[in-house]
Amino acid sequence: MNRENFIKLSLLAGAGFALQGYNSKEKTHVLTLSFDDGFKKSFYKTAEIFNEYGLSACLNIIATGQLKSFNTEPVWIPQKLLGDFNDWNKLKGKGHEVMLHTWDHKNLTEMPVGEAKENLDKCFDFFSKNLDSYNASKSVYNFAYNASTPELDAYALQTVRAVRTGGWLVLKDGKYNTLTIPAKPCTLGCWGCGPDNCDAYIEGEIMEFLATSGGWLILNVHGLDGEGWGPLSTNYLDGLLKRLIKVKSLDILPTGMVLEKYTS
Ligand SMILES: [Zn+2]
Repeated sequence: MNRENFIKLSLLAGAGFALQGYNSKEKTHVLTLSFDDGFKKSFYKTAEIFNEYGLSACLNIIATGQLKSFNTEPVWIPQKLLGDFNDWNKLKGKGHEVMLHTWDHKNLTEMPVGEAKENLDKCFDFFSKNLDSYNASKSVYNFAYNASTPELDAYALQTVRAVRTGGWLVLKDGKYNTLTIPAKPCTLGCWGCGPDNCDAYIEGEIMEFLATSGGWLILNVHGLDGEGWGPLSTNYLDGLLKRLIKVKSLDILPTGMVLEKYTS
């Protein structure tokens, strides 16, 4: 190697080290945009936008959503708009995160607890058989309607790494999850807004978050451009990520990756 190339390589290595050091120590704010339900067109588009900015999307799927028999209640989740596990495995293969969003999108707090636990088990079993490289100990279960009880949280946490439920249920001190994440199974709180377009809500929540001293904000979103409950518009999402990747204190990651990176 000549001297010039040696210097170039040394500079690159130095820059890499500095960047890595910065990432691990200086990020005070973490944002997860947690997309639910599995709208085929919207999820491919969302993944493409996240790719554009070197980010991984957080995609949460209903196990039986790919079946024609899926009961399309509520009206926000018409079966014909949903993708299947070929789609989800393809997107996972491209570096996006695919997590569990229920067996059949029932509100588990509105049925006998034994039935709710069976419903959870069916979902875990389905994902273990149909999602490539599924690892329950690194997975997140996202409750439908962000509705759960401490008993259902605890039951699911016997299987998965974390559950995502309503922020109003588990975040007693405010809106944000802590970045001091324990190695043991944990319960995470999120927030969302619908049924109409939620661009303005998301913008307001993120700006308010960035003005604080930090934490982990999980915002629950769904489809794009009219698909699903509280949709975002494609142009807004694209512009939002374009702005946010420039915020040096901010990490934008899917839930499972936050758990891997920030567990103390
Ligand atoms: Zn949902």
